[in-house]
Amino acid sequence: MRILVTGGAGFIGSNYVRYLLENSEDEVVTLDALTYAGSRDNLDGALEHPNHEFVEGSICDQELVEELVSDADAIVNFAAESHVDRSIEGAAPFVETNVEGTQTLLDAAVDADVDRFLQISTDEVYGQILDGTFSEEDPLNPRNPYAATKASADLLAKSYETTHGLPVLITRTCNNFGPRQHTEKLIPKFIRNAAAGNELPVYGDGSNVREWIYVEDNCQALDLVLREGEPGEVYNIGSGEERTNLEVTEAILDAVGGSEDQITFVEDRAGHDQRYALETDKIERLGWEPSWSFEAGLEQAVEYYL
Ligand code: NAD
Repeated sequence: MRILVTGGAGFIGSNYVRYLLENSEDEVVTLDALTYAGSRDNLDGALEHPNHEFVEGSICDQELVEELVSDADAIVNFAAESHVDRSIEGAAPFVETNVEGTQTLLDAAVDADVDRFLQISTDEVYGQILDGTFSEEDPLNPRNPYAATKASADLLAKSYETTHGLPVLITRTCNNFGPRQHTEKLIPKFIRNAAAGNELPVYGDGSNVREWIYVEDNCQALDLVLREGEPGEVYNIGSGEERTNLEVTEAILDAVGGSEDQITFVEDRAGHDQRYALETDKIERLGWEPSWSFEAGLEQAVEYYL
């Protein structure tokens, strides 16, 4: 297979490109605009791999996208603006890449008649849930601009499946952590701050709950959906490893050897969702389960960031 991976120089995308190169014979083309969030360093070692080609460019560039999609068998679309706080400051780049960029890819995929289109989405499209878990059938109720653009992309992708018969698959994963995540995100930022003796700014009272998956587990699940998933279907990918933000902060301080005095509580994020949690029966029926506990993954992450 020839697989076009967009956003492959970012956090999850670069882990997935490595996963493909290590575990398959597939030819991989990475398309990435190298925004502040992406870097060639994330693909260190993979750039020279004989089965890998790196192209710098945007998923919004129709001509380039058409050229790359024309000889691809499958597309895995990670490319996105991904930081909620930035989407609150300004949503325009989120609409451009997450919605218009996805539409550009979908149009090219229809024209080229690709075999698989995997849209990488997030648990945030469901909105918050105080008890229980979201299933793939639950309505979308995004509550911040980032999540709203991801939900829009899901709906567009699904509509191309219905209208054009494009073999679209959608995955919705919980919070990822592990190597090569941008330092603006909670776990890398707090590991570095904890080790440097700096403050760890926790939003609100730290009671917001997230489900955390080690990125390697997510890559395995995504690959399984790409190869074995049923076109037209949505698959939640979760770990069951729920932690409050305060628990995550304390675990990092423990792992790094910092002091609880470093924790400061700061004004809550606007529209901060209280809790996300996913039902994962469907992906488990495909034959996947997570291998990493939160603590084991955190140990790896600490080693990587320090
Ligand atoms: P990231 O911000 O680390 O990486 C995004 C990558 O996309 C970067 O390399 C960036 O340069 C690239 N990019 C941005 N705009 C582009 C454009 N117009 N054209 C081409 N490339 C562009 O993000 P991430 O955390 O790796 O997330 C990847 C995907 O997974 C996103 O779609 C995100 O919504 C989704 N997701 C992330 C998480 C998580 O916890 N990180 C959870 C669920 C879903």
